[in-house]
Amino acid sequence: MTTLLDTLVDKALRREHPTREEALAVLSGDDELLDIVAAGSRVRRHFFGRRVKLNTIINMKSGMCPEDCTYCSQRLGSGSEILKYSWISPEDAARTADQAVRAGAKRVCLVASGRGPGERDITRIENTIAAIREDNPQVEVCVCLGLLGAGHAERLASAGAHAYSHNLNTSEARYSEICSTHTFADRVDTLRRATEAGLSPCSGAIFGMGESDEDVVDLALALRELDPDSVPVNFLIPFQGTPLEGRWELTPDRCLRILAVFRFFFPDVEVRLAGGREIHLRGMQPLALHLANSIFLGDYLTSEGQPGADDRQMIADAGFTIEGVDEPTLPEARHDLVAIRRRGAGTDLPANA
Ligand code: SF4
Repeated sequence: MTTLLDTLVDKALRREHPTREEALAVLSGDDELLDIVAAGSRVRRHFFGRRVKLNTIINMKSGMCPEDCTYCSQRLGSGSEILKYSWISPEDAARTADQAVRAGAKRVCLVASGRGPGERDITRIENTIAAIREDNPQVEVCVCLGLLGAGHAERLASAGAHAYSHNLNTSEARYSEICSTHTFADRVDTLRRATEAGLSPCSGAIFGMGESDEDVVDLALALRELDPDSVPVNFLIPFQGTPLEGRWELTPDRCLRILAVFRFFFPDVEVRLAGGREIHLRGMQPLALHLANSIFLGDYLTSEGQPGADDRQMIADAGFTIEGVDEPTLPEARHDLVAIRRRGAGTDLPANA
């Protein structure tokens, strides 16, 4: 007898996504959690082997944001006692990036609070990318600056950014409940601008904000339409001083089922275990490596993660290996979509102008 999980594995290996009903059954059906993880793991191993890609976040500018995203400790009126500072220098960012690369990070994510960058901010990031590439020309640089204006994505691409990250966060139907200062459509528009400029699109979600199973599936379907190369899956860190403080609705079982659904929806895409993994998955983190092929190393934007040495030990103990700089992350069928820049800024080769 063919089970639902067999069907989902077969479809995923053909790069077909689940139906709404199939995904809902994974989230709340009768299948045992370990059977679900085992099925997702077959897909993960088929496309990504036992590699785990390490990424690190550099918070270029922290706090003082005029936007009001309810989940965010950097939001307008946040009472969270987080670090607040204006832009760090390109040299400081390059130093932090170098440490992360030495610790195994393959991608550096340059993130700044705010609605979106101005022209001067783009210039700062251009200078930062150049400084990072001077010491580490091979590292992937992803940029995450909020809503992009005309020409911004093109400038970032020319400066050598590899990817642009902008999460959809939650379903379109619920978006106005978590933010009133910009819309779901604004976020989609920025992702499209980044993709059209040649940047590798990175977009994911935050779970644990009161979403239903239907919302989880709606978001996965909306993300599929954007065809991202990487999908970060965050679990809400319910900071004190934010409207969602004290919200602890996730269990390790729920987190793993969500990760499995995302693996089935994005079989050959980098699914990244992101913020909140330590506090929500707790002792079940190693199981999540059987579904996600990528994690953040070190600290998050405004909260601390577990020590990098513990992550590396966890990866080894669970039978995985850290992805090397020369190993491609995405499977071959997606390679021609993402050509990592090896010319222009930060190299000795002329730019492709
Ligand atoms: S998520 Fe970004 S845009 Fe929203 S409040 Fe936080 S820093 Fe500002």
